[in-house]
Amino acid sequence: MILSEEYRGNTMFELTGKTAIITGASRGIGKAIAMKFAGQGANIAFLHFGDGENAAQTEQELNAMGIKAKGYECDVSDFNAAKALVEDVIKEFGEVHILVNNAGIIRDGLMLSMKEEDFDRVISVNLKGTFNMTKSVYQHFMKKRRGRIINMASVVGINGNAGQSNYASAKAGIIGMTKSVAKELASRNVTVNAIAPGFIATDMTASMPEKAREAAIASIPMKRAGQVDDIANTALFLASDEAAYVTGEVIKVDGGMAI
Ligand code: NAP
Repeated sequence: MILSEEYRGNTMFELTGKTAIITGASRGIGKAIAMKFAGQGANIAFLHFGDGENAAQTEQELNAMGIKAKGYECDVSDFNAAKALVEDVIKEFGEVHILVNNAGIIRDGLMLSMKEEDFDRVISVNLKGTFNMTKSVYQHFMKKRRGRIINMASVVGINGNAGQSNYASAKAGIIGMTKSVAKELASRNVTVNAIAPGFIATDMTASMPEKAREAAIASIPMKRAGQVDDIANTALFLASDEAAYVTGEVIKVDGGMAI
């Protein structure tokens, strides 16, 4: 079969000339997304909180890929800091095309013993952080009449999980926010989507008790933990021109965990 020129030699998922802000990208899933986007030519402004060593290493690795990259220490839960950060990035990089709201934390415990501060902090970083960053790029994307917002949810935000009522609430909130902002910005050519990872091998899951980790993996039809690149590949698709008509979607990347 002879394919038409249209289907031959396409460079898919090209991000050259685009700038992405990625939160929580000093390690884990966020770092994999940053590396994946940089590999496709994007410039990267990434946020971390507290861990300067990992951030310096990530910045060095990204710059070695021949794109422009800069790490910023910024707590996404701080509205004014998030706003100032986005302004700084626009000044430094000229324009922002993609926002990935990836920063997240867990503070697990049954509700019976969950401290109010652990509920508040998880909501602040995961959910309010997503609001803070999205609101800070909103007008910029609206004016430019294009943009990509990718939010990191979780299968736990779809199915719930004992011991994670704070985290599940935050992630379910992110799904609601994703769909709402997708409706607000669709006519401006801005897409807003979420990824719902299952159990991915990162520091976050390494911190779980061994028994809980084994039980989680046993519950996955594919019988293995996901890798950070499984999530980064999906983020790349959503950031790309090829996903121009996908908005308000929640893509589970979970080896079948939440079927
Ligand atoms: P991780 O390895 O623990 O990394 C978390 C990242 O977020 C780090 O870069 C951390 O920066 C940053 N961060 C934490 N608090 C922050 C704050 N207040 N402001 C800015 N940055 C902050 O996590 P991960 O496993 O890669 O998870 C990434 C995202 O995927 C999270 O939203 C998580 O909820 C979600 N997710 C993960 C899994 C999984 O199985 N791993 C499953 C479902 C969803 P520092 O290094 O400076 O602390």
